[in-house]
This record gives sequence, structure tokens and C-alpha cells, in this order.
Amino acid sequence: MDGNSPYSLGFDSDKKTGAALGYLVPNYLIRRALYDVVATQNNVEFLTDIAVDSLSTDHHGGIVHLSNGKSREAALIVAADSRFSGTRRAMGIGARMRDFGKTAIVCRMEHQQPHEQMAFECFHYGRTLAVLPMAGNLSSIVITVDNELADDIVNMEEALFSKDIEQRFGHRLGKMKLIGERYAYQLVAVHADRFIANRFAVIGDAAVGMHPVTAHGFNLGLRGQATLATQIKKALTLGHDFGAKEVLQRYETKHMLVTRPMYWGTNGIVGLFTNDKPPAKAFRSVLLRLANNFPPVKYAIKSRLTEIRG
Ligand SMILES: Cc1cc2nc3c(=O)[nH]c(=O)nc-3n(C[C@H](O)[C@H](O)[C@H](O)COP(=O)(O)OP(=O)(O)OC[C@H]3O[C@@H](n4cnc5c(N)ncnc54)[C@H](O)[C@@H]3O)c2cc1C
Repeated sequence: MDGNSPYSLGFDSDKKTGAALGYLVPNYLIRRALYDVVATQNNVEFLTDIAVDSLSTDHHGGIVHLSNGKSREAALIVAADSRFSGTRRAMGIGARMRDFGKTAIVCRMEHQQPHEQMAFECFHYGRTLAVLPMAGNLSSIVITVDNELADDIVNMEEALFSKDIEQRFGHRLGKMKLIGERYAYQLVAVHADRFIANRFAVIGDAAVGMHPVTAHGFNLGLRGQATLATQIKKALTLGHDFGAKEVLQRYETKHMLVTRPMYWGTNGIVGLFTNDKPPAKAFRSVLLRLANNFPPVKYAIKSRLTEIRG
């Protein structure tokens, strides 16, 4: 939805297969499921409450120095230490960063009417509001505003906050009520210039930290690690050195092809749909109508977002 207009660009689930456009899974469930899988592997060691202080690599492998004074050596170091990755910087990999000057406030709300498994992204003027369906009459709410407005929204009295969101959402879900805490994240998108260095690779947000508007950051991170794991497995199967430059290079080339259009495309959409100047407003409206009425454009957006072409 765009501005004050009731007009919307819609993406439906697959009519033929009935497959959903996507699923919203709470992060704590993903973490628990991943932990349950990894905990059973006898070649994985968990070290908690310990930071990587420094690292270095040479021709044969790398070493990480830990905050408990110990160290670990490996043939390859793979880092997933967030979009502000200290190891990425230490290994001499630069990054493009875009500070949007905005904060995303995330919370859950209960509502009177069922959401019927529909997700809404409302690019209102001055702020955006995403309402994302969860199990039952519950939705995840993401409000994006200029940084200076964020504290007031986070600290707003609960009943007032609930009423405000209900009104901004046009009472589509009836009465709405805040459940639990409101969390605020300042939005900075990051794309590393390279994903690899000598005996070193970055994955997850350390490689690409997306703007959350398309809810894709974690998905992209999973995809990156799968691409890297595939190349490592191939090298192992052939009895090759899995930390060698050619192996890492294949990961970087394949993953960059996916991340670059996604990253710049998402930033472009965010830039346009948060720009409230009159020419941008007019273009926003035209673009929605064009996408709605021109099936190839709509299909292209949908297939990018859902990877329906596999
Ligand atoms: C508001 C918001 C909403 C989002 N919504 C979605 C969504 O709906 N769908 C989706 O797919 N993605 C979403 N994302 C993106 C998603 O959260 C990230 O892509 C994902 O968390 C990245 O995982 P990661 O493991 O790479 O990095 P992180 O989750 O940032 O984890 C990095 C970890 O590394 C640790 N670390 C850092 N430095 C060191 C060090 N020196 N030593 C040891 N440990 C260190 C940190 O403590 C942290 O635990 C959202 C992001 C935001 C901000």
C-alpha cells in the first residue's frame, strides 16, 4: 500500500500448487531447531560468552585468538559476526554501508479479526508499517520511522500505542493489542566488497546485511552458507584442499550474483518508497499500477522474493 491511497499491489500464493509465498517463523524457534541439529554433531564445539579478539591466516590455515586467552586453529575460518563484522575488517575486506537514518520498531500484536494469512506492507508517508501474520490472531508488527521519532514510539503508553497502530492500519483487523515488548533496531544495510580473503570467508550478515523490508536477510544468509558448504563438500569429495582460493572464489562468485541485485534492488525500493517528495510520490503510484497490470513485472518480483524458480 502506498501513502494514503487504498490502492495496493498484491501478490497471491500459487494458484496451481497452493504453495504459500513464504512463512513467518519466530527467530527463537529457528535458533532452537538449529541448536538441536548442531548439538548432535560430535565435531562441533560450542564456546559461549567468549569473543574472537583477533585472527590471522597464512598459506596453510588460520588462527583465532579468543578473549579467554586461548586460541583455535583451522584450515579455513568462516565468520558470521554480524553486519559490523570485526573479523571482516581485520582481514582487510571493505564494505558498502547505507545508514538509512531510520529505526525499525518490532513487536507483536493480538487482533480481533483473523489475518487470513495475509502480510501487509504499508508505505505510509513519513513512516512504514508492516503487519505480518503469525499463528492465530497474532501479527508481527514492524514500524519504520526516522531515528529521532523512535524513542517516543517505543515509550508510548501501551493502550495509546495499540490504538495508534489500529487506526494507521485502517481497522482492518478490528481491535489491536500490544503483546510483550517493543524492540528498536537502527537500520544500516551493508554489502561486503568481497566475501573471501586468504583462508577466510564471511557468511550471513557479515557478507550482506539487508534492509528488513522484504524480510530476506536471514534467508540470504542461509543461502550463502549453503553455497559455501556445497563448494567445500565438492572439494572434499575430490580430495582437494577445501580452504584453497579456487574453492572460496566459486562461493564468492555464485553468492555475489544473488546478493548484488537483491541488495541494490531492495535499497532502491526503500529509497523510493520512503521518499515523500511530490515527484517520488507520483512515481510510487505509477510503479504500483504498472506492476499490478503488467504480469511479467509482477512475476519477476515474485520469483525474486520467493525463489519459485528454485
Ligand atoms: C528489524 C529487523 C527485522 C528483520 N526481519 C527479518 C525477517 O523477517 N526475515 C529474515 O530473513 N531476516 C530478517 N532480518 C535479518 C536477520 O535478522 C539477519 O539477517 C540475521 O540475524 C543475520 O544472522 P547472522 O548470524 O549473520 O548475524 P547476527 O544475527 O547479527 O549474529 C552475529 C553474532 O555474532 C556475534 N559476534 C559478533 N562479533 C563477535 C566476536 N568478535 N566474537 C564472537 N562473537 C561475535 C554477535 O554477538 C552475534 O551473536 C531482520 C533484521 C532486522 C534488524
